[in-house]
Amino acid sequence: MNTNSKKIVLVGTGFVGMSFAYAALNQNLCDQLVLVDIDKERARGEAMDLNHGLAFARANMDIRAGEYGDCYDADIVVICAGVAQKAGEKRVDLLKRNAAVFESIVRPVVQSGFNGIFLVATNPVDIMTRITKDLSGFPAHRVIGTGTTLDSARLRYLLGQYFDIDPKSVHAYVIGEHGDSEFVPWSQAMIGTKPVELICSEFEQYNESDLEGISDGVRSAAYEIIKAKNATYYGIGMAIVRICRAILNNEKSILTVSCVMRGEYGLSGVYLGMPCIVGAGGAQQIVRLPLTRSESGKLGQSAQFLTETYESLKK
Ligand code: NAD
Repeated sequence: MNTNSKKIVLVGTGFVGMSFAYAALNQNLCDQLVLVDIDKERARGEAMDLNHGLAFARANMDIRAGEYGDCYDADIVVICAGVAQKAGEKRVDLLKRNAAVFESIVRPVVQSGFNGIFLVATNPVDIMTRITKDLSGFPAHRVIGTGTTLDSARLRYLLGQYFDIDPKSVHAYVIGEHGDSEFVPWSQAMIGTKPVELICSEFEQYNESDLEGISDGVRSAAYEIIKAKNATYYGIGMAIVRICRAILNNEKSILTVSCVMRGEYGLSGVYLGMPCIVGAGGAQQIVRLPLTRSESGKLGQSAQFLTETYESLKK
């Protein structure tokens, strides 16, 4: 781990990677940002373009195109490389292609002597994070995925609209797979510290029946955006910055990253989105929620789907 200056290597300088890089520059996230892509010209051009914004930025960041060898003293390697969903495709449809891409990325990163934290955004993100753990041999807490951080942000936005409240005052999570089996444990959703279900029972303008429409809206958001503009990238770019900042500053923030289950809710080995304390060292501890029986059942189903999909790759 680099102790003098905060260094991030970004692998994959496409829409998601560069949305992260642009947000990182604007939010003065780190001191060094190295861009790596199989398309070296693209990485070089992106580094030039970002550098031309330095005169207008608050940051004085060292931004350059580089190689896997640059990872040796990085704090975080962010992976956004691979293929993205097209209209009509599910995230899991990308698995075989992106697993092959990761073979060519994770090993050279590890061979560089990298001793920091892997943060994976490539889809299907929970399984790609597990594959990164397998390929790297790193301890699980140093390999995390973006999980349902973006979904939770979408949920907070939609609940903020519904209750006419600042999304920052909405405390609610989407958990499980970053994909179709994800769900909202409504028993744990709060506005301030007041449960959303209680608000629905007290005020006649709010209905619990509307809540399922909101969670459907979160689940279908990516499909809707991809249909409209072919890809999603700004929201995830900002989510990656948020997770990196929690790591670099040892914030111990609770974020729904993709992390490994170690017996929580009877689940083991599977990576999925759960509220987790994120700080230096990566995923420090999963926050166990007092889920209802029905919510625990949904989490189990999501975990089973992810486990079966991961195992199907070996066949
Ligand atoms: P993109 O096609 O714009 O960019 C992908 C980049 O990866 C390209 O620059 C490509 O050259 C590079 N690449 C491909 N193979 C490589 C390799 N072997 N080594 C190094 N670089 C390689 O795609 P995008 O829109 O940026 O999406 C990237 C990934 O992020 C996709 O898997 C997408 O589904 C995912 N995504 C995740 C979330 C989330 O919430 N986790 C949200 C949106 C998108």
